[in-house]
Amino acid sequence: MLEHRKFYIDGQWVDPATSRDCKVIDPSTEEPCAVISLGSEADTNAAVAAARRALPGWSETPAEQRIALVAKVLEIYKRRVQEMADVIMMEMGAPRDWALKQQAQAGIDNIQDALDAAQKIEFSHPIGSTPGARIIKQPIGVVGMITPWNWPISQVTLKVFPAMIAGCTMVLKPSEFAPLDAILIAEMIDEAGFPAGVFNLVNGDGAGVGSQLSAHPDVDMISFTGSTRAGKLISKAAAETLKRVSLELGGKGANIVFADAPEGAVRRGARSCFNNTGQSCNAPTRMLVERSIYDEAVEIARETAENTKVGSAHEDGKHIGPLVSGIQYERVQALIEKGVEEGAKLVAGGPGRPEGFNRGYFVRPTVFADVEPGMTIEKQEIFGPVLSMIPFDTEEEAIAIANDTPYGLTNYVQSSDGARRNRLARQLQSGMVEMNYKSRGEGAPFGGIKSSGRAREGGVWGIEEYLEVKSVSDWAAE
Ligand code: NAD
Repeated sequence: MLEHRKFYIDGQWVDPATSRDCKVIDPSTEEPCAVISLGSEADTNAAVAAARRALPGWSETPAEQRIALVAKVLEIYKRRVQEMADVIMMEMGAPRDWALKQQAQAGIDNIQDALDAAQKIEFSHPIGSTPGARIIKQPIGVVGMITPWNWPISQVTLKVFPAMIAGCTMVLKPSEFAPLDAILIAEMIDEAGFPAGVFNLVNGDGAGVGSQLSAHPDVDMISFTGSTRAGKLISKAAAETLKRVSLELGGKGANIVFADAPEGAVRRGARSCFNNTGQSCNAPTRMLVERSIYDEAVEIARETAENTKVGSAHEDGKHIGPLVSGIQYERVQALIEKGVEEGAKLVAGGPGRPEGFNRGYFVRPTVFADVEPGMTIEKQEIFGPVLSMIPFDTEEEAIAIANDTPYGLTNYVQSSDGARRNRLARQLQSGMVEMNYKSRGEGAPFGGIKSSGRAREGGVWGIEEYLEVKSVSDWAAE
């Protein structure tokens, strides 16, 4: 079992102020794979104080030097990417191949994206016609970062490196369920040689270090990714100090499949719903299908679910792993049972573990058809491999169903009709609309609206999240 009881504060690995062990459970085996410490208020305060001390020096360091240090982390990360994949495989159950090619790779892509965006940011530029009128963009200050377990290093890298480039200093509290990737990135940051205090890592839970950071008077901003429930609590805790709060929350994406959708649209949509064992905030979990192709679509989704293999994260191959924890397992089981109880038609999967498993948090890839708007499985984020299928007759009806949710992260459209796609892209209420499974493009931001939060991570927007805009007059030429 790995032992990682120390925190990274002020450029050193230090013991927690009070010892409080927390076991990290490998969800494929239900056995502990590591032990970490849960921090206390004294640890949070020490990390915030270190970040505060480092701020004047780091924020004044020329941007090129900050960027060069981030580029150094990228080199180290590329060298140690297999180690990153191995810990993610253990801590959150991502199968070996997926852990390397998707989860660990996302860290590389995000750091590269931040480096590319850094070249496009103008930290200072003239404005208007009055000589000396200028906009300068300055780091917001000390940032508290709170991240979840589902795409653990992706979410950490989407915050840490843009904030560093912006000139902020920070305290990261990763998920207590999946903290090992964050410990590894701290080692890489240490190896790259950042000034002490720029980056600090304190492990802990939401009620402890999470809420201490949120309420801390010396923290200028909280950047949070996680559940809508915790996003609200953090916003309340942060209100007293009026700090900036940037939230990336849950989702309940609609995937609208029209009869003229390109070949393979349903299969691909079902697979995307099951990927990462359904534990993605942007998963297309509600498939809305035009009635003329609905029965055929249900059949394809059933087949796709039945052909989706489930297996241990430690095995090679293209399969989905377990859910992250016993709590998630119970939550997903309860929602599957609710779907049956409320009268949705179970066409694949269902309650219980897949055949052949009696331990590990494995669930059956599940498809419900004839789901009606308003049913619990249509409304709540399930965060498991569960697809809800709903027929529709008209474009207007599809848009109304898609938008009738508190969430607004990603919606999906499958259609060969360009004019229709553009209409839907405008009318769907979400931060992102992905059509015909085409990429949204390098440097595009990730983020939502409504109960999915307001943050924009990635690209130039991802760095601007950490900047304050200052408007200045009579600036002298330098
Ligand atoms: P969670 O909200 O329970 O936990 C996320 C993080 O917040 C953890 O580090 C946790 O310790 C901390 N936390 C919990 N309660 C807190 C509190 N009161 N104060 C401060 N910190 C607190 O979420 P989770 O179960 O780890 O992650 C799954 C959720 O994250 C899903 O809802 C998913 O949709 C969402 N998510 C969103 C995005 C996005 O970009 N929109 C990306 C990934 C995951």
